[in-house]
Amino acid sequence: MKEESNNAWLKYDRKTLAAVMDFAEEYRKFISACKTERECVDAVIAKAKALGYKDIASVKKVKAGDKLYAAHMGKTLALFVVGSEPLETGMKILGAHIDSPRMDLKQVPVYEDNEIVLLDTHYYGGIKKYQWVTIPLAIHGVICKKDGTVVKVSVGDEPGDPVFGVSDLLIHLGADQLQKKGNVVIEGEDLNVTFASMPLKGEKKDAVLANVKKLLVKKYKIDLDDFLSAELEVVPAGEARDMGIDSSLLMGYGHDDRCCAYPSAEAIFRITEENTNAPVWKGRTLVCLLVDKEEIGSVGATGMHSKFFENTVAELLDRMGEYSELKVRRAMQNSVMLSSDVSAAFDPNYPSVNEKKNTAFFGKGLVFNKYTGSRGKSGSNDANPEFFAKIRKVFDDANVSFQTAELGKVDQGGGGTIAYIMGNYGMNVIDCGVAVQNMHAPWEVISKADLYEALQGYLAFYREM
Ligand code: MN
Ligand code: MN
Repeated sequence: MKEESNNAWLKYDRKTLAAVMDFAEEYRKFISACKTERECVDAVIAKAKALGYKDIASVKKVKAGDKLYAAHMGKTLALFVVGSEPLETGMKILGAHIDSPRMDLKQVPVYEDNEIVLLDTHYYGGIKKYQWVTIPLAIHGVICKKDGTVVKVSVGDEPGDPVFGVSDLLIHLGADQLQKKGNVVIEGEDLNVTFASMPLKGEKKDAVLANVKKLLVKKYKIDLDDFLSAELEVVPAGEARDMGIDSSLLMGYGHDDRCCAYPSAEAIFRITEENTNAPVWKGRTLVCLLVDKEEIGSVGATGMHSKFFENTVAELLDRMGEYSELKVRRAMQNSVMLSSDVSAAFDPNYPSVNEKKNTAFFGKGLVFNKYTGSRGKSGSNDANPEFFAKIRKVFDDANVSFQTAELGKVDQGGGGTIAYIMGNYGMNVIDCGVAVQNMHAPWEVISKADLYEALQGYLAFYREM
């Protein structure tokens, strides 16, 4: 362990400092525009296509040097740079998730109560519900109609857009409420979004709702039944912002886990741009994997537990003329992976939850967690020290700042990621990520230096592992 301050800001020269700030600004724009998993997938595919990536489904033969992507249901995505070595020797995988905690609209969300129309929600992921009231909210997502059309919705983030919100009791009448425990001060069924209040003239009953129906037809050509087949996410409205008088931090929605997903995608984009004289990537195939549903257990067709990635590897081998079940298994087991997800940044306001030797700090680079889990490491992928020894060397040789940490004190809590799921294939995988304050709050905070070190670390992993 280094004794002097190993704060990454101290090592930057003027040029690198500019690069740190530029990368943070790119990322700031990305998370300000992409607030759902679908929006992230769309944006990354758009960039991939511009860089020459092709949809695997549209390609008959795959060879070394090809740049490919595979998306599933618009919510999970794999990017590939096919290397010169056979796929069965394994891949170098960067993985992160692109879903974030939020409130989803229920299937039957709309109702009128005393001339206010509200939307009923069901929260997604672990949230402190009291943090989500009295702040401006936006609604992003899709409404799928019976005729097969998919209506994209995004209200609350464009200039001039209205915003939405969940109300809270005024302090003057909050005496009883404030006696409640934190986890029930605001309860799940209280997270109802204020949607409208203007009645339609001439309507005797539910006149505000009548007006809402009229507006929905006019703006989206939908009726209330169409909410049955919709995926609408209520998220904080507004852009991510620079934070601190030195602008060293970023406050934004969805850092968990887009602050790992974005640099992972950028790493695979940038690695082939570094040396355009050698269009074929020498070595093992590179992969960037962006998955959905991590916040609710990596379940379903678009979560890490899905067979999507394994199936895609089989498709890849098939298009190489190499398919066999054994080769799929070898390709998976021989892979190495950085499973990136955010870590808890030390918070001077709440020092008691951490054990300082094993705590992540802002500005000290990418955080490695040999294990996550809770209590006795339950639910954790406990990475092999042989593997982490190699990573340490790669990072040190590339002068990338990193730190190691646990998520809080033993017995304080804990959490899981996608690492153990990939570990099931027998591959070497370790948890790492960017340190975050206010994790799962509407506005989370990261250090720009850590974001930049993550990118540099991912690039070093692709180059040297
Ligand atoms: Mn999370
Ligand atoms: Mn996460």
